[in-house]
This record gives sequence, C-alpha cells and structure tokens, in this order.
Amino acid sequence: MEDHWSTSMVTNTYGTSLWRTIRKLWPKLRGNCKIKIGNGVKVSFWEDSWLEQGSLKTLFPDVFILNQQQRDTVAEVWSNQGWNLSFRRPFNDWEIQRVVEFYRTLEHFRGGNTVQDRLEWKDHKQGRFSVKGAYKKFNPFNSQINGWPWKMIWKAKIPYKVSCFTWLLAKQAVLTQENLMKRGIQLSPRCFLCGEKAETVTHLFLHCRITNQLWDLFINKKELKWVMPRRVTQTLKIWSSYANISGHRERWKIIPACIWWSTWKERNLRCHQNKSNTIQKMKMNCLVLFHFWCKQEYMEDLESVVNVLGSL
Ligand SMILES: [Zn+2]
Repeated sequence: MEDHWSTSMVTNTYGTSLWRTIRKLWPKLRGNCKIKIGNGVKVSFWEDSWLEQGSLKTLFPDVFILNQQQRDTVAEVWSNQGWNLSFRRPFNDWEIQRVVEFYRTLEHFRGGNTVQDRLEWKDHKQGRFSVKGAYKKFNPFNSQINGWPWKMIWKAKIPYKVSCFTWLLAKQAVLTQENLMKRGIQLSPRCFLCGEKAETVTHLFLHCRITNQLWDLFINKKELKWVMPRRVTQTLKIWSSYANISGHRERWKIIPACIWWSTWKERNLRCHQNKSNTIQKMKMNCLVLFHFWCKQEYMEDLESVVNVLGSL
C-alpha cells in the first residue's frame, strides 16, 4: 500500500478496467490534497506531508536514517507528553544542529485531537473536493470545457438517456455502421435512411437528405439561413446561438436532440426490425416527441403541436 489514504494498485481487471483507470488518477489527486491531522492514526510520521514544510523524510533525510520508527504513524510517536522518538545511536557533535532544526520543525505541531485524520482539497477554502474542481484543475486549457456544448447536452430538458445519447453523438461514438466496422464487425456501410451514402455519424444525423427533412421542419419555421455544420458539436453550438432569436429558449434547445433521437429510432427500426415509416410519418413522430418533451404529456390533437411549434 502506498499510504493509508487509498486502495492498493489494481493488478486485476475484474471484468472491466474501470476501477484500474480510476485508481491511476490517485497520485495526481493526492498531490493536490493536504493532510488535516486529527488523531494521527492514518498519517505516516516520516513519509506524509502533514506539516506545511513538507515530509520530514525529505526535509531531514539524515535524521530519518538514524530513526528507529521509520514506518510509524504520528499517533505512534506522539503523546501528550511530547514526541517519543528513539534513534539507533547517540548523535555526533556535528549532527546536533540538524537535530535541533528537526525538533524546531516539529514545534509547529500543536497536538492532535480525537477526530479522524482527513485529506483536504488544496484549492478549496474549506478543503472540500469536487469532481468539477478537480477537472478544472487538471484541464485548465482544455478547449472541451470552453468550447464543449455541455449545456445543450446536459441542461436541455430531455430524458437522461437522450442526453447520454447526444453526448455519445458529440463524441462520434454512437454505434453507426461506420463505428461498428471500425471495431472489426463486417457490415454493409450503407445509410439505412437514404441508402445512398456511407452511414457515418455526420451523414446519418446531419447530412442525410432524409434527416434534413426533419431539420427543415424547424429551420423553415424560423426562416433561418442554415448551413449544416460538419460536426455534431458545431451544430449544437451554432444551434444554441440561435436560441436568442427564439421565442422559447428552453424548447429551442431540445430540437437537435429530438431530431437525432427520432432519426436513431427510425434507423434502428429499419436496421433491426426490417420495418420503416414514410417520411411523413417520421416528421409526425418527431413533432409528437418534441411536443411530449415540451409538455410532458401525450398530444391530444394536432392543434396543440401547432401551438408548441408556434412558441418557438
Ligand atoms: Zn442517408
């Protein structure tokens, strides 16, 4: 075990390597934590940086070599009477100055208490750790944070599974024919909707002439001068920028996910069940889904769909 704060390194996959991958991040996370000492049971006296100056082993390697409690915790060498440290031999004259410095450094310790030791996140006033804070810390220039359309994916009022699907799309990771073939599965790469082009993520969801008719439902409504971008992430970003001209920002934001989810369902119907809907029915399904997500209720009549579209 490296220290008392983490599990051992994972050498087994246990079916997936998820935990091993998470565990690999530990040294990085640990480096950004400081120790808040309590009862001292978890804190290594020599190895851990429990004093602001750093670890005692690094600060005083010459004293460390002579000590007989090299693996002890703070709790084991501290008592209310003071430090109980024992050394292999008496100090030589030339070593005394260093030993004095060593004990002076220890004077910064004000004594423990009965609370458990804990790690605190250095970049937070109260020492609280958050995944968001850690991500920002380790990816300060990551364009994905600044340029990534996460609000369109995770803040849109759509079912969570659809947010996950949209995220996969943005990552180009949805299992289209092209992506399956990249994994070595031999298939006909033809688009299930138009049957004309290869089924890539960008073709199926952005440029297929069938999918475009779903886009047109909304684009024509606002008479937008829309040129379909080359990537899903660009599409989300540009679509989001048009939310300002929309009468209903929240509804506007869910349109791409609605089109893509409808497209994917139709594509799977054709791929797995050998059935298909006409383009008119596809448009209707898309509008009904849009209405459902906006109102969270099933459409009763055509008029209510028209009203929802009118609010855009
Ligand atoms: Zn197509």
